[in-house]
Amino acid sequence: PFIEYGLRTQESKKQMKEAENHLPGGVTANIKYFAPYPVVMEKGKGAWIKDVDGHWYVDYLMGYGSLALGHGDETVKEAIFQQLKKDGTLLFGTPHRLELEFAMKIQDYFPSIEKVRYTNSGTEATQLAIRLAQVFTGKKRIAKCEGHYHGGYKEMLYSINPSLEEAGEEAAPYPVPESAGVEVDGQEPVILPFNHIEGMEKLLNKYKDQLAAVVIEPVQAGFIPADQEYMNRLRQLTQKYNVVLIYDEVKTGFRSSLGGAQNVYQIEPDLTTLGKVIGGGFPFGVVGGKSEIMDLTSPIRGADVFEAGSKGKGTARDILFHSGTYNGHPTILAAGLATMNKLDQQFDQILRYTDELRNGIEGIGKRVGLPLKTCGIGSIFNVIWNEETNLRHYRDLQKTNTKLRRELDFELMRAGVYTKPLNRYSISAAHGEDELTFTLKAYEKACRNLKGG
Ligand code: PMP
Repeated sequence: PFIEYGLRTQESKKQMKEAENHLPGGVTANIKYFAPYPVVMEKGKGAWIKDVDGHWYVDYLMGYGSLALGHGDETVKEAIFQQLKKDGTLLFGTPHRLELEFAMKIQDYFPSIEKVRYTNSGTEATQLAIRLAQVFTGKKRIAKCEGHYHGGYKEMLYSINPSLEEAGEEAAPYPVPESAGVEVDGQEPVILPFNHIEGMEKLLNKYKDQLAAVVIEPVQAGFIPADQEYMNRLRQLTQKYNVVLIYDEVKTGFRSSLGGAQNVYQIEPDLTTLGKVIGGGFPFGVVGGKSEIMDLTSPIRGADVFEAGSKGKGTARDILFHSGTYNGHPTILAAGLATMNKLDQQFDQILRYTDELRNGIEGIGKRVGLPLKTCGIGSIFNVIWNEETNLRHYRDLQKTNTKLRRELDFELMRAGVYTKPLNRYSISAAHGEDELTFTLKAYEKACRNLKGG
């Protein structure tokens, strides 16, 4: 399929070649790259995107899961337009009505969230959550799970996608740097084994006096769910050891369920981070949780509020600094609110589509004789080329056949179905009967080509 790819995507190839002279690797985020070169897209409409060579694809990347309503949803566009018309400005730089409205809306879906702060990305959200935990507990170190991603900054760039040779023992994974400029120097996070209760217990017990927080994707990469028992135990132990439990629901929020993964597990974390879907396609993030933790950022902590210029008796060091020119951007909040409101009505339909697609793919795999399994929860899943393993954590995923899955992805592109090679599938409200039929036909064709080739 790779030769055919080169012939079919000549314009992408040309544009990427030129882009390399101006952007490192031709891309603006490393995740956008894949070999031999990524497809350049030029248009999106509903569930579909079109590349610069004129091919349309049913899109399952959906802006890395951000577009829960599909490309260019009319309701969201109208909400943005109305906000601009009503408020007249793009940015106030002052408090405004949507900040409160949006906070109350999130609290409807996430009962664990008593107060929120807004950020400009999921990365910023997890950064703030971590600092909140450090100030709250007076401790420094963070624990994260092997294979989990929380944003592109030094403190968290460990053991996201390590080779199994480097990663050490399953029960006590070694911290593996994921970037140049990141070292194992004693400040790195403690790496917990996901879905391995004894390993997790041992490490928490060993580091409890140093640990400020455990940060976890309750559903790894949005598609490998934690065991209920693992999550129960993690909640118990973090409480017992005075460690802040942070659920990073940037992927799972409004996808595992409308109330995120915490609603599925019926567990309340101390802090939650959100992003992607709730920004309606714009850069956005949320940190929310217990008032006693969130209020550490309050500028009126211990102050005489109405005394001009006063910080009360305290100093800057009594408050956790959190600011940002664009925090609570009105256009983004309008887009996010419209997304949540519409999604509320459409989520069941998205779940039905997801179910039918997963069953269809597995059925085709069986018929054609390819070991395709799907794994996921809510409106995200992934297709795993998997002979025998029951997928429960990062190491299982490493043992699946990613080489053939990648070939399948290229065959699918040829047949008009897009996700970035090896990426998960995110379903939107714009995926309907026509897209389902089209996708399953494309799968049948792609699988037969692979089998024949
Ligand atoms: N946490 C998780 C679980 C994520 O999936 C992501 C993004 N893929 C982030 C944090 C970072 O979010 P952003 O890309 O908006 O900075």
